[in-house]
Amino acid sequence: MQIYWTTLVDVIDEATDTKTFYLDLPEGFTWEEGAHTHLALEGFNSEEKPDKGLVRHMSIATLPEENTIGITTRLRAERSRYKIHLAELKSGSSVALFKTHTNIPLKREDRPIYLLSCGVGIASFRPLILQYLNDSNRIDSLHSLNIDSSGEQLFSSLFEQESDPSLTAQYVTDRPAYYQEVNRLAVDTNAFFYIVGSDDFLRETIATLREYGISGEHITIDKHERFRSDFLS
Ligand SMILES: Cc1cc2nc3c(=O)[nH]c(=O)nc-3n(C[C@H](O)[C@H](O)[C@H](O)COP(=O)(O)OP(=O)(O)OC[C@H]3O[C@@H](n4cnc5c(N)ncnc54)[C@H](O)[C@@H]3O)c2cc1C
Repeated sequence: MQIYWTTLVDVIDEATDTKTFYLDLPEGFTWEEGAHTHLALEGFNSEEKPDKGLVRHMSIATLPEENTIGITTRLRAERSRYKIHLAELKSGSSVALFKTHTNIPLKREDRPIYLLSCGVGIASFRPLILQYLNDSNRIDSLHSLNIDSSGEQLFSSLFEQESDPSLTAQYVTDRPAYYQEVNRLAVDTNAFFYIVGSDDFLRETIATLREYGISGEHITIDKHERFRSDFLS
């Protein structure tokens, strides 16, 4: 397993308790849109056994062409040991990245794609949206539906461009509004549905899509192939 050590360049406030950590791009580190990585903090491998308390899965919210690795996460008042350490990082602090993999690349099969996310989960979709704006070949349209009770609309500027009317977005703040929208989108049985959020969010959204006859092949989740069946069988 190759471990890429790199440094924190900057931390940007995205919304209340939500920050993007920008990391220097280590030489040889590559990824595709929608990739997640393991973001490990200093000390994670200083003992014989890795300290899992200092490692979390994180989506890469940037594209390689941005020349930086962006990680968007929430830092609430109540923090895990990991988030306490993460919040203390300063420009120049070292972090490690490893096991980078994409489960949710854009599928180019002449269909609409609906991106369903909960809260900061929309960060996983940011690079897909940028990649779609770069090249929408063989994708009919892209629509993002995000539920966030805070009412703060993360990454909404992505959708403010007027160059491509086939890119649209909706932000809702409560579950009735979210499921009302999912019900409306699920009528489109030809489309691909991508879902990112907690496991409960995945299960509930998948159950709703199933009611409309959306098949497992049309549902994409950020889970490794071997765990997909836990959600889709
Ligand atoms: C593929 C993938 C991509 C991801 N991408 C991102 C990303 O881009 N940004 C991001 O912020 N997160 C992402 N995550 C989730 C991330 O790995 C962390 O789980 C998350 O950030 C919360 O970390 P934490 O240290 O605050 O909480 P964790 O310790 O990881 O706990 C996770 C959740 O479990 C619950 N929990 C934990 N312990 C307890 C307890 N004792 N009692 C009750 N509830 C508990 C809490 O609700 C908590 O939020 C991703 C996960 C996966 C699998």
